Amino acid sequence: MARTIEPDCRQCRREGCKLFLKGERCTTKKCAMERRPVIPGQHGNSRRRVTFSEYGSQLREKQKVKRMYGVLESQFRKYYDEAERMKGVTGENMLSLIERRLDNVVYRMGIGASRSQCRQIVNHGHITVNGKRVNIPSYSVKVGDVIAVKENKQDLEFFKAIKGIKVVMPKWLEFDTNTLTGKIVALPSREDIDADIKEQLIIELYSR
Ligand code: SF4
Repeated sequence: MARTIEPDCRQCRREGCKLFLKGERCTTKKCAMERRPVIPGQHGNSRRRVTFSEYGSQLREKQKVKRMYGVLESQFRKYYDEAERMKGVTGENMLSLIERRLDNVVYRMGIGASRSQCRQIVNHGHITVNGKRVNIPSYSVKVGDVIAVKENKQDLEFFKAIKGIKVVMPKWLEFDTNTLTGKIVALPSREDIDADIKEQLIIELYSR
């Protein structure tokens, strides 16, 4: 399975914003964006106030979203292509498609602390969709799908820890932390995605 190997905090520093790739650490003072918010590399300090060309800002916006969701270029491009074929606003469709990835849904339900941890939870076969085990992180959920955690004796401590957790649940999802079961009650809309994303820049880049 292909994935980016660039260190998480370095990716945030490159994009100049918090991408929340490391779970709890991201909200503490240990976060690299709190301690050293400069572009990585030898000349990072001197490029503190870098200005981008039109193409540069479009490219950076695309890279930011890809890194946020842990998606590589070819798969990200497929989301754009599919969004373009759908009715409605392409940028909003694209974000909705990415948001519907199973690893992201598991993250939004609060089962894991970061998207990469949730991706691993899915990969290791801990998640079922409508009663069947699904170990594909890019699996796209539909309205009415029931997502559940398949408890495993070896990982009992982990599952005990997530029982009773409190998360701010987006309104398109439901999740019961006692039974570790959730449901997709609607498809995510643009308002449900609170991250600072300028999707129009990505669309402009791909339609060049
Ligand atoms: Fe980004 Fe989290 Fe690292 Fe902070 S701690 S730089 S938010 S990955």
